[in-house]
Amino acid sequence: MDFDAIVVGSGITGGWVAKELCERGVKTLLLERGRNVEHKVDYLDFAAPWQVPNRGRVPEEEKAQHYAIQGTNYAFNSASKQWWVRDSEHPYSTPPDRPFSWIRGYHLGGRSITWGRQTYRLSDYDFGAGRRDGKSIDWPIRYADLSPWYDRVERFAGVSGSNEGLEQLPDGQFMAPMGLNCLERAFKDKVEEIHPTRRVTVARCAHLTEPTAEHIALGRGPCQMRNVCDRGCGYGAYFSSLSATLPAAKKTGNLTIVTDAIVERLDYDHAKRRVSGVRVIDANTRQGKSYQARVVFLCASTIGTAQILLSSRSEFFPNGLANRSDAVGRYLMDHVVGLGAVGTHPGFLDRYYYGRRPSGFYLPRYANITENEDVDFLRGFAFQGYTSRSSWSRGGNEVGVGAELKQKLRTPGRWEMRLVGFGEMLPRADNRVTLDEKRIDKWGIPLVHIDCTHGENERLLGERANRDAAAMLAAAGFENIQANGPVRPPGHSVHEMGTARMGLDPATSVLNRYNRTHDVANLFVTDGSCMASSGTANPSLTYMALSARAANYAADLLTSGEI
Ligand SMILES: Cc1cc2nc3c(=O)[nH]c(=O)nc-3n(C[C@H](O)[C@H](O)[C@H](O)COP(=O)(O)OP(=O)(O)OC[C@H]3O[C@@H](n4cnc5c(N)ncnc54)[C@H](O)[C@@H]3O)c2cc1C
Ligand code: SF4
Repeated sequence: MDFDAIVVGSGITGGWVAKELCERGVKTLLLERGRNVEHKVDYLDFAAPWQVPNRGRVPEEEKAQHYAIQGTNYAFNSASKQWWVRDSEHPYSTPPDRPFSWIRGYHLGGRSITWGRQTYRLSDYDFGAGRRDGKSIDWPIRYADLSPWYDRVERFAGVSGSNEGLEQLPDGQFMAPMGLNCLERAFKDKVEEIHPTRRVTVARCAHLTEPTAEHIALGRGPCQMRNVCDRGCGYGAYFSSLSATLPAAKKTGNLTIVTDAIVERLDYDHAKRRVSGVRVIDANTRQGKSYQARVVFLCASTIGTAQILLSSRSEFFPNGLANRSDAVGRYLMDHVVGLGAVGTHPGFLDRYYYGRRPSGFYLPRYANITENEDVDFLRGFAFQGYTSRSSWSRGGNEVGVGAELKQKLRTPGRWEMRLVGFGEMLPRADNRVTLDEKRIDKWGIPLVHIDCTHGENERLLGERANRDAAAMLAAAGFENIQANGPVRPPGHSVHEMGTARMGLDPATSVLNRYNRTHDVANLFVTDGSCMASSGTANPSLTYMALSARAANYAADLLTSGEI
């Protein structure tokens, strides 16, 4: 064996697995398909506004040629461009009438650099949803199984937020919250007065507001409220693999990182029922190589992991490795986005906010929990909220030159509030990732084909989310209210998940309650593909907690000699 463990992917989940394994004394190889990134050195967060090309805009021609999909994401701009793959170099296919936005970053740290850092726990409303309504497989765990791991992850990552005592949004280990501004406080008061079953709270986000000695020892510092996080953060103030998990793993002396290493497939030893090798192609030289370890973790993100498993066909697994259930690649989910509404407020013109708080507020799910009358859909939706004063929002919206522009900029414009809805998507077997048998990429790996649509339940809950958002804004005195829409194609919320789901029954699921594949003893999957249902909350905190839990479980098995 070259190593005790191999982890594929260095993003949010791979970083956590590597850290936990290394801290348990496990010699770990981390394989990353993208280039190396030097934390702090390679970021553009210290560029002055006038140093950012085109005030953040990427020329339309370049977008159309290289970033047709990535360029549709809100965080794609000329200062963050290096964190997005070129669609022209990393194609995939979809049916012509069923687009799917596969948003990716291939580099050390993965999308932990570009993520929006919103961190919410799931609850037993989510883990028990399938058991209650039968519309998704039952999770093999409940909130109590994950709660200590959420604690561990929040403490280490550093999450600011406010405890609210809500069953559907469990409390956590939070540093000081960032605080609501005057308009948000007024909105909160009004919404909670009219709807005592709804709650408006400051966003929970993975930013250090009160760094601990452990954070500081890793070179991390407090958030400066600059709101240029999508460029990377030289203060290490928000959680990423590069600011937090990988430095912690390196400290142990047990971590080896190989970048530009594209995992093509896993080899399977049927006699031992184990993965016997991880085959890699060098991204630059296209040379092949194989690594061996006692245990293998796939953390290549939901679709990347499905691609590796489906490519790892053998005599014993003709449909792809660990795929006796035929669930690998199926049940692809995302959150429904393009929901909610925006409005302007005529008041509070003498009030402003201090700094550029890099987050907003949150209105957790209430439909089918605290409010279930007149509800014609299953599950629910939640809102993230953002406020600004229009002409002074980041980047500046005002167009013009000279004295006229300067004059316009003397006043910050009206207050604006946007409620951004995230709806739960039900899993369906025919929403799936397969391999395109006819086309390969420039490394000879079959392309991914993604066929995924929203269903009737998503349509119904989306309509309700739009109605509710507009009604709440109107009740709080907003004007010029417009729906956010249209509903975006799946993938657009970048919460893709479900393609190797956890479950109790090996006939219908890929992973057991510890994220270990039912079929292959030394193979674990801890990225979003493990999710049995999507919930409404942003999922990465749950991926992290599951990753930390599974890594420690695997470390126990390595210690006992079981694997
Ligand atoms: C703009 C944006 C905002 C977001 N906001 C939020 C948010 O607020 N809250 C939230 O919870 N989530 C958010 N997300 C989603 C979040 O980024 C993902 O859920 C999370 O990064 C998934 O972690 P992961 O480890 O599975 O994948 P990634 O972080 O994408 O990491 C996967 C890694 O695997 C590597 N890889 C892939 N294939 C291979 C291969 N074959 N061989 C070797 N390496 C491979 C990739 O290069 C990558 O580095 C956001 C994402 C984006 C882009
Ligand atoms: S707002 Fe905070 S986390 Fe974001 S770039 Fe600035 S210091 Fe870093």
